[in-house]
Amino acid sequence: MNQPLRVLVIDDNPGDRILAIRELSREFPDCQVEEILDAEDLARVVKQGNFDVVITDYQLRWTDGIQVLRAIKERYPYRPVIMFTGTGSEEIAVEAMQSGLDDYVLKSPNRYFRLPNAVRVTLERAQAERRAALLEIRLQSLLNQLDIGIFRSTTDGQLLESNRAFLRLLGVNSLSEAQAMDLLNLPELGAQYQATLPLQPHEREVQLHRADGTSIWTALNITLNWVDDETVVDGLLEDITARKRAQAEVRQLNETLEQRVRERTQELEAANQDLEAFAYSVSHDLREPLRSIQGLAQALLEDYAQALNSVGQSYSQGIVNVSQQMDKFIEDLLIYSRLRREEIPIQPTGLALVVTEALQQLEPEIRERQAQLIIEEPLPEVMGNRLILIQVFKNLLSNAIKFVAPGRQPEVRIWAEEREDEEMGRQGDSQMRLWVEDKGIGIDVENQKRIFHVFERLHGSEIYPGTGIGLAIVRKGVERMGGQVGIESQLGQGSLFWIELPTVPE
Ligand code: ADP
Repeated sequence: MNQPLRVLVIDDNPGDRILAIRELSREFPDCQVEEILDAEDLARVVKQGNFDVVITDYQLRWTDGIQVLRAIKERYPYRPVIMFTGTGSEEIAVEAMQSGLDDYVLKSPNRYFRLPNAVRVTLERAQAERRAALLEIRLQSLLNQLDIGIFRSTTDGQLLESNRAFLRLLGVNSLSEAQAMDLLNLPELGAQYQATLPLQPHEREVQLHRADGTSIWTALNITLNWVDDETVVDGLLEDITARKRAQAEVRQLNETLEQRVRERTQELEAANQDLEAFAYSVSHDLREPLRSIQGLAQALLEDYAQALNSVGQSYSQGIVNVSQQMDKFIEDLLIYSRLRREEIPIQPTGLALVVTEALQQLEPEIRERQAQLIIEEPLPEVMGNRLILIQVFKNLLSNAIKFVAPGRQPEVRIWAEEREDEEMGRQGDSQMRLWVEDKGIGIDVENQKRIFHVFERLHGSEIYPGTGIGLAIVRKGVERMGGQVGIESQLGQGSLFWIELPTVPE
């Protein structure tokens, strides 16, 4: 202690006072002693409070030690009072202890020396108690300021303590009211938690019906703890109504959003179908008159060749050529449109036959360009549709033969390669990749994606005639069979087109 010790000595016997002061000065040389001689003195010092410890006799002319003790403790519960007496009985000692006496030293020659030690020990203890009490007050006030309810109960549901927020959340005014209403069903909770020992903190959401009939959503967090060998339930109770409401709103919004997206998608699909049906029927209906034009121009050339001069003949040939081009264009459009609309049956399909069939259909071009074709066998079976696969290979092979530098002989190679697809969680699904390689003019990297879209062409129709739909048919067809397409190429270096389809399951 930095300040000198301040002691009140209350004793009517001057000799005993001297004795007490002498003993104290041994251990506390700087101590300041005030001697209290009557009730007036006592009342004054109690009022002023300028002392640290009190040493009092039991028997006083003007009062007794118990009264002194009470007067001090009532006002200063953490200032030690020591009784220094030669007259006390056991009853008095008990009564004094019950009233908060800190120590008892007998006035007998071989006991005086205990006095300073009693002062030191009681002072230290009182200070520790005071610190603990202050901490307790601080803790209580913090707990009471919290918005989270805190409570402790026995495992059979007897509430032991709680903070204010706990009572507020339940809508009650006191712990006993909370106990009586038992809104959290604590006995059952305690039993449940005990049954599942050893315990981890456990959180659950509980809809709490409060005392006033209103309901709130709470998060109830429970832990079992041991206090002096007894198991207690420590709980936290938090109002999560706002969070729950927000979650419900988000869920509701998501649902309406999904519903709106569904409706919008349906509308779009309907509009798309209408449009496709329209395109289909227009394309279909255009074909008839076109065929007539083509047939009539052909007839003109065949039946009236003599009647026409060379200019008339080349005009008629022009009509035949252009209408053939247009017919091819309409045919491709119809194929593409059908691919989007129609159901496509998928089954194991042998690629060797598919390629043979495609090559047969391309026979005139192959012969005309003297294309050199290498087919690396065996070509396996894949899951696909035979007619679409023939169309796909026909388009890829006809491009491979067509897009070659003028005067160069086309060289085309076809082979198959099995791959394990480890992407997108499809580990273990095996895919067959089919390559079509040419030694043609190649495609620069920037344009490689767009050529798979309808009407995208990189070359003028004078040198390389076409409709710009062929690769769109390849892509759509393969996608509808559950596969994908791709290309590796460089300008001037030839191209490697590939399609990938599921293998036939074993
Ligand atoms: P089309 O062949 O009727 O023009 P496609 O959709 O089949 O239409 O091809 C789109 C474009 O992609 C072609 O116009 C051409 O520019 C390019 N292309 C396709 N195949 C090849 C190839 N094997 N080599 C080089 N370019 C190609």
